[in-house]
Amino acid sequence: MALMETEGFILSTMPHGDTSKIVRFFTKDHGKFSVIAKGIKGGKKKTGGVLDSLNLLKFMYYHKEGRELQLLSRFEIIDNFAGLRSHLDKLALGMAVMEIIINLVVEEESNEKLFSLVKRSLKTLELSEKNLYNIYWYFLLKFLKISGYEIVLDTCRSCGEHAGERQSLFSYNIGGIICSECSDVQGAESISVETLRVMRNLQINEPQRFMNLQVSVPATYEINNLLKKYYTFHFDGYRSPESLNLIT
Ligand SMILES: [Zn+2]
Repeated sequence: MALMETEGFILSTMPHGDTSKIVRFFTKDHGKFSVIAKGIKGGKKKTGGVLDSLNLLKFMYYHKEGRELQLLSRFEIIDNFAGLRSHLDKLALGMAVMEIIINLVVEEESNEKLFSLVKRSLKTLELSEKNLYNIYWYFLLKFLKISGYEIVLDTCRSCGEHAGERQSLFSYNIGGIICSECSDVQGAESISVETLRVMRNLQINEPQRFMNLQVSVPATYEINNLLKKYYTFHFDGYRSPESLNLIT
């Protein structure tokens, strides 16, 4: 049994017996796995909210190959995203990011790019004052790229020609836009110029560049629907995150 150290986000927690807790982590070095935290409730060890969902922890654990639950040893908090917890919409979007990780990421597969994307997305959500959905969409678009399902928005997916800022078609099947010359591609649906422009911006730029980008109500609906449909198409059993229902 080896003593390991890593950092990770708490995806969820569950009571176990009278005094223990099962904590599910998404970690920097070993992806997603669960640990058991023994004797933390009602005993001498007080955790005072350290083991709450969303928190980023540095922790040590005993690792044994093939064991379903690893054993949590020492832990300390790196970030509890207090500014995100105190704002319902930010919290809902942050929890939605966690739900995507819970539902779509394979167990125990290390993915540092994804880990830093989650960190950057939560931190930006915490610090933003407006246009919060931009950050969630940014996360979803980058997640697609990391997972190998990147949406192509700069060239036509059928003929490869550069696509300007025009009313275009979008194909869920081949993952991107279709120019007017290629409109016979089956199943392609229309996509507005604004949606195209916003999604391109979020794909290319880092958050500080689009935090002030205001998106119209129709384009907000369109982007939400497009991403939901695209995720449903490419990920088996995808469900829209339940936390999104909390958004006011
Ligand atoms: Zn084309």
